[in-house]
Amino acid sequence: MKNFKAKKFREQFPLLYRQRSSTEIHEHKLSDQGENKSLVYFDNAATTQRPCCVIERYQFFYQELNANVHRSSHSLSAKATSAFEQARQCVTDFIHAKSIKEVIWTKGATESINLIANTLGEQILSPNDEIIITVSEHHANIVPWQLLAKRTGSLIKVLTLEKDGRIDISAFERLINEKTKIICCSHVSNVIGKVNPIDVVIAKARDVGAISIIDGAQAVAHFTIDVQALDCDFYLFSAHKMYGSTGVGVLYGKQHLLESMPPYQAGGEMIKTVSFNQPTTFNVLPFKFEAGTPNIAGIVAFSQAIKFMSQFNQKEIIQYEHQLTRYCYQALTKIPQVKFIVQGLPDIPVIAFIINGHHNHDIASTLDSFGIAIRSGHHCAMPLMEYLNISGCLRVSMAAYNTIEEVDYFIDCLTKAINQEGTASVSNISTNINAETNKGQLTAEINSSVATIMAQFSAIKSWDARHREIMMLGKTLNRLDKYARNDQSLISGCESLAWLVVSKNKKGLYFFQADSDAKIIRGLLVIVLAAFNDKTAKQIQMFDIQSYFEQLGLMQHLSPSRGNGVLAIVDKIKCLAMSGKVE
Ligand code: PLP
Repeated sequence: MKNFKAKKFREQFPLLYRQRSSTEIHEHKLSDQGENKSLVYFDNAATTQRPCCVIERYQFFYQELNANVHRSSHSLSAKATSAFEQARQCVTDFIHAKSIKEVIWTKGATESINLIANTLGEQILSPNDEIIITVSEHHANIVPWQLLAKRTGSLIKVLTLEKDGRIDISAFERLINEKTKIICCSHVSNVIGKVNPIDVVIAKARDVGAISIIDGAQAVAHFTIDVQALDCDFYLFSAHKMYGSTGVGVLYGKQHLLESMPPYQAGGEMIKTVSFNQPTTFNVLPFKFEAGTPNIAGIVAFSQAIKFMSQFNQKEIIQYEHQLTRYCYQALTKIPQVKFIVQGLPDIPVIAFIINGHHNHDIASTLDSFGIAIRSGHHCAMPLMEYLNISGCLRVSMAAYNTIEEVDYFIDCLTKAINQEGTASVSNISTNINAETNKGQLTAEINSSVATIMAQFSAIKSWDARHREIMMLGKTLNRLDKYARNDQSLISGCESLAWLVVSKNKKGLYFFQADSDAKIIRGLLVIVLAAFNDKTAKQIQMFDIQSYFEQLGLMQHLSPSRGNGVLAIVDKIKCLAMSGKVE
């Protein structure tokens, strides 16, 4: 077993050495700051980066081993099948399962949960039976149970948290009873980063004869898992959160439960015999739950990720991650505007907080302009946000390849983002959109145009300077009156709040006025409105927003991810113009 050396470990991850452009480096005077020329990747709870050996194994599979598994008798298929089943053995050993029969390949944690809900869930639940889930679960561990509850007439009971973010065991004791049939709980929440007392949960579930399901998506990358010692009924996770491939997941289940469950999806390889004259019979475990061609290359590469991790002293990795967590947490406590969403130091390097007086989205996008990737929003845990009475938060999530220097750089940039007033010049752009209300009619005086915005942005070379320009533009957008920011004008599809109102003049020209609670979105709105205001419905339909944003060097803001929702805003503008609806 190798000793863990943070620097050597990091060197295995090529994406972390992707250089930022020379203009960005120049802009931030990074030349003498070594590491900060590279990406600072603090979004590991969403997905980790992959080491060279995993990338190479993936490529090797396609170059040397590619064939379908379990189906053909030729030697290439035999080799592929052997690599595929060795990967299953590798996972079996990694989680200390009794047998490979208990390890089912899925697409990810989400599919693993859906598999249980749609098979065992359907089988065991009757009307008024109860499912306990915690308020801090990822949507993947909520929505399948909500759908199941609706289908079966069963009820969902929600377990609350202690002040430190761990589940409240005394509340759990009050909630669990003989009607409880299923208990689902994350080993570690993807937002809070605290280890839940799942041993107590599993033991109590066993006492009342309920099935225990542990979502280990955030746990597997950070500590060793022994499913036999835990004695849970099911344990599940995704490969991509522990240096493996996307589209690969694991469902561990106790053999007797898996045997008693009906199949999930139907198709090739999950059957023993198929006939139109006899009942179709199903394959043995684990194949009964693996219909269709799996992600063979991804699974083979995943076993390489496990081997890669297993060669290091696990205790040293855990210690190093704790050191990073503590260092970052303590540095954040020194920033007066930082407010942690729960009390106390997290157990894994996942730290969630808000910044008083700033929108999460503004902070995250400013950090992005400094080359730091963190996540903002609800983190697929909307019920948790509601419970904590926040609309979203920022999340820093680190891995063993992150460094103390990166944390220092992050804290430095976060401090700048908090204090930033912006210095970019917008002198030659006047986007004075004056909305006046006259019996509900809005008129707008638009001085900015696509041409002026294009001219302004063409002079800017670096990503962070463009970011500052957008922030400055945001300041020029007239805020919508309070009354106009309502449910009707709210645009769905944005993680920040954004509102849009429209009017049309006698010549058939449209005028849009918009607003957002995030500064960055207000800036982007100025850019978007310049393209669509004072235009006919036809011109609005014809306008090519992709090429406009491409020319501005702002394609990142047109991402179909829900991050900022510019596409949702553009869709709403086009939709309103098409329908001719004017409020
Ligand atoms: N459960 C938890 C705790 C997670 O953090 C995630 C993803 O972030 C999931 C489930 C869903 O994982 P996947 O999208 O890989 O299926």
